[in-house]
Amino acid sequence: MSQKLGAMLPDLIRHFFRKPATVQYPFEKLELPKKFRGNPVMDPALCIGCQMCVRDCPSEAIEIHKESEATDEAGKVKRTFSMTFYMDRCAHCAQCEEVCPKKAIHLDSTFEHGAFDRGALKVVYK
Ligand code: SF4
Ligand code: SF4
Repeated sequence: MSQKLGAMLPDLIRHFFRKPATVQYPFEKLELPKKFRGNPVMDPALCIGCQMCVRDCPSEAIEIHKESEATDEAGKVKRTFSMTFYMDRCAHCAQCEEVCPKKAIHLDSTFEHGAFDRGALKVVYK
């Protein structure tokens, strides 16, 4: 045992004078990498309701619903859509952001979304 302690001593002394490798979270926070994949966020104004994000989401965490449909004087049909994210299922893979042809979804830098109730993790954009 004393032999092992002797072998460890230089390492122990060295580590006394080193900066800690961890931070005192949540009081201190690290800077996130630029490509960090946080929560999906939607801009409903850009959505055309193609359902590509729904089809590609591996966690079945997205629903797209038509909210309104109107025809203008020129005969052009205008539809609006809402999106529901079930954050308790999201795997933060960014596939929805990747596949959306209108860039209506992006992953932000949020990562703290714990809750006592699963219902609180349902997010609706409209
Ligand atoms: S990030 Fe991945 S798991 Fe989460 S909603 Fe988008 S496609 Fe689904
Ligand atoms: S992929 Fe984009 S445009 Fe298509 S339904 Fe999803 S959010 Fe809307």
